Amino acid sequence: MQKRRVVIIGSGPAGFTAALYTARAQLKPVLIAGTTLGGQVSLTHEIENYPGFPEGLSGAELVEHFRAQVERFGTEIVYDSVMEVDFTNGSPFTVKTGSETYLADAVIVTIGADPRKLKVPGEIEYTGRGVSYCGTCDGFFFRGKDVVVVGGGDSALEESLFLTRFANSVNIIHRRDELRAGVALQTRAFNNPKISFTWNTVVEEILGGENNAVSAVRLRNVETGEVYEKPTDGVFIFVGHIPNSQLFGDQLAVNENGYVITDQRYRTSVDGVFAAGEIQDEIWRQVATSVGQGTSAGMSAIHWLEEHEDELQPLDEEPAPAS
Ligand code: NAP
Repeated sequence: MQKRRVVIIGSGPAGFTAALYTARAQLKPVLIAGTTLGGQVSLTHEIENYPGFPEGLSGAELVEHFRAQVERFGTEIVYDSVMEVDFTNGSPFTVKTGSETYLADAVIVTIGADPRKLKVPGEIEYTGRGVSYCGTCDGFFFRGKDVVVVGGGDSALEESLFLTRFANSVNIIHRRDELRAGVALQTRAFNNPKISFTWNTVVEEILGGENNAVSAVRLRNVETGEVYEKPTDGVFIFVGHIPNSQLFGDQLAVNENGYVITDQRYRTSVDGVFAAGEIQDEIWRQVATSVGQGTSAGMSAIHWLEEHEDELQPLDEEPAPAS
């Protein structure tokens, strides 16, 4: 068991920034990175809207900058996943990974959200065999192919535009006749000759062919009821996200969509537990907004520890006060 002032769960932009601020406050945070250092951003091909990098950079490059900066100020990065937490008795909190148990005075939760599944037959079976949730990761494999994209939000359009770099054609299948995405992305998509739309239509099944790979989708027009098959080489699904709040069970208050509820200081329903990034933000979901939220959560944790200084137990390496 290791006793720590601050444990940060998650290594996305919010987690790294919370680590940066708490590390510079001499709190020697532990950042438990999870399976992918950097989370979803590390899979992003190109980031052009994060300030300070006018030429843009890849997600992997940005994560490397984050890592170097937090380690420079004394963050310990643990390459493991959190299996269990116990927030029920208040601070200090128990955080268990596969190989260690931490007792943390304050915890900052930044474990983001995962892509929502369509939940249709064939989806799981053909994931990695034509079904994908990341155009920037997998687009390269669809050079010269015909693909479909499911969804009508910003992600669907942004990823469709990216996919046109590789694919021969991109058909966006949307369940309504109106897009949810912002106007700028809509304009770019409508003006792209490789992109077409199938309106008022849902995917009922993903079908496979030779080589056990995707060959077609079975579609249903929700207006007419017509069901038909459309041949395709790939199915890219962007129908929103599900926050990774299951880890906390009912220990943290969440909203109707499962996002952790925080106040303006990024405090959760548990005193001493803070949350930042996509685990609590279902609207903005940008690297820059997550970084800002991680800053606020880190600063709130620093203030919280200062306010509770008299109640904190000494850390293992700290000499016991003279009696
Ligand atoms: P989203 O805005 O929630 O859009 C999800 C889309 O999937 C909607 O069009 C929705 O249809 C559709 N959908 C949901 N469930 C479905 C189902 N079971 N079957 C078929 N279609 C389904 O999610 P998002 O596009 O991932 O964006 C999430 C947030 O990140 C948004 O706030 C967005 O603005 C932001 N974001 C911003 C950028 C950017 O600024 N560049 C890029 C990506 C994301 P309906 O429209 O009918 O509900």
